Amino acid sequence: MTSRTAGADGFPEVPPGARTGGRLVVCAPLLPEARAVRPGIGGTGEVRVSGYGPGRARRQAGRLRQDTFGALAVAGTGGGLTGDLSPGDLVVATEVTDGATTTACPSAPLLAGELRRAGLTARTGPVVSVARLAGGRERARAVNPGALAVDMESAWLADAAGERPVAVVRAISDTPQWPLLSPAALAGGLRALRSLRAAGPALTRWAAAAGQRRVLLAGPRSFCAGVERAIEIVEKLLEQQGPPVYVRKQIVHNTHVVADLERRGAVFVDELDQVPDGACVVFSAHGVSPAVRADADRRGLATVDATCPLVSKVHVEARRFAAEGYLVALIGHAGHEEVEGTLGEAPQAMALVETAEDVARLRPPDPAKVAYLMQTTLAVDEAEEVAGALRERFPAARAPGSDDICYATTNRQQAVRAVAAESDLVLVAGSANSSNSVRLVETAERAGTPAHLIDGPSDIQLGWLAGVSTIGLTAGASAPPAVVNDIITALSGLGPVEVSERVITTENIRFSLPKEVRAQ
Ligand code: SF4
Repeated sequence: MTSRTAGADGFPEVPPGARTGGRLVVCAPLLPEARAVRPGIGGTGEVRVSGYGPGRARRQAGRLRQDTFGALAVAGTGGGLTGDLSPGDLVVATEVTDGATTTACPSAPLLAGELRRAGLTARTGPVVSVARLAGGRERARAVNPGALAVDMESAWLADAAGERPVAVVRAISDTPQWPLLSPAALAGGLRALRSLRAAGPALTRWAAAAGQRRVLLAGPRSFCAGVERAIEIVEKLLEQQGPPVYVRKQIVHNTHVVADLERRGAVFVDELDQVPDGACVVFSAHGVSPAVRADADRRGLATVDATCPLVSKVHVEARRFAAEGYLVALIGHAGHEEVEGTLGEAPQAMALVETAEDVARLRPPDPAKVAYLMQTTLAVDEAEEVAGALRERFPAARAPGSDDICYATTNRQQAVRAVAAESDLVLVAGSANSSNSVRLVETAERAGTPAHLIDGPSDIQLGWLAGVSTIGLTAGASAPPAVVNDIITALSGLGPVEVSERVITTENIRFSLPKEVRAQ
């Protein structure tokens, strides 16, 4: 196996000089395919009619090996191998093989994401090239049962890229339901050519993003002890009780974690009334208010609490201050589950403050009896600003006994600041509803470096990468380490990537599991 390191559709044109990867060559086997893709490539690359079938593909590959291009794309129509593909869908190859030689195309998720943002239906998966049209589908499935598309050229053309970035895009013209040589075939072919035409600008941006890069990993990054504990609780329950295991709200705010646990039998519900009588329900890492616990008791539900112990600590502080007659100002973001849970500990004695302006609006019954607490995942500097406003207005204000913003949030923010200082761009792996991940983006931006939140490689907009030679990479406390690896792999499909790490501290915190799931 060879493995490679890595206008018209409404997106900005690639500016002249932004190209880092050298000349793009697009091989389209047939003239109509070349004509479809050419307008989108424009003057940014060369579109060649590389010829139909393996013989011509091999001869073209021979010529390509003598060439000095910077990035190679193969664009044409192809046969869909799975029932869920329709004519006009695009398959972006993660690898292409003829059964003997396999070429990896690691940047496939980046290109597929760009195509989807352009409004196209794009899937990623293996593509198989076969020598003959007759029985091609059966032959392709025999080579790779998981393949999405079959053609007669890509494997031989892609092999000619050598160590240079390579992409293979096949627009589906026929499927098992729309077979070649059927009356529907012409319509399928036309749809495929329309999609190829629309894909051209994305290929241009893909080539413009190609180039050699450094990736600076922030350390620590990714899972914290509270998230690991919460996931382990659901896993143990799945193991011990079998599915379904009900979880109130997302166990942690990450789409990958939730999807993985759902696949294994976890059922995420918004409220307890969606949990059947007598079932067991897990409370998420963000914590719940006493009202939710009381509701579960009333329903006779068995509960397992995955609330992070550092969130529980804030709950205890809220109860203590409220019992001592304080008005408790909670610095946090409205609507976040953790904030709702903490406010629920003493609703009559608590007020949410998001900004210094909110502090000015506070009307405590006794200005000498104000205390404040914080959501655990805030930006340290922003929260301190609000806390400062509280102390200024209420000099006797009581602060929490120890920092409410947790160690994991603080460490990840310091680490992303360190890599941002050396980077042209910062990417933060995390989901949009993950507070600590969003704060990492803001922290990097405040350090003066453009930063983006991405759930995975397909969220990376290729335009962000043009002209960027050093990327800082981190992950929020709820984002799995595997996503960071996927991002590096995808970037390596655009050119060689040198990975190094800036570790500001190491973490060795672990929280014990609740008794309900502990090994007996
Ligand atoms: S980010 Fe902090 S408070 Fe939240 S789960 Fe992790 S350790 Fe606990």
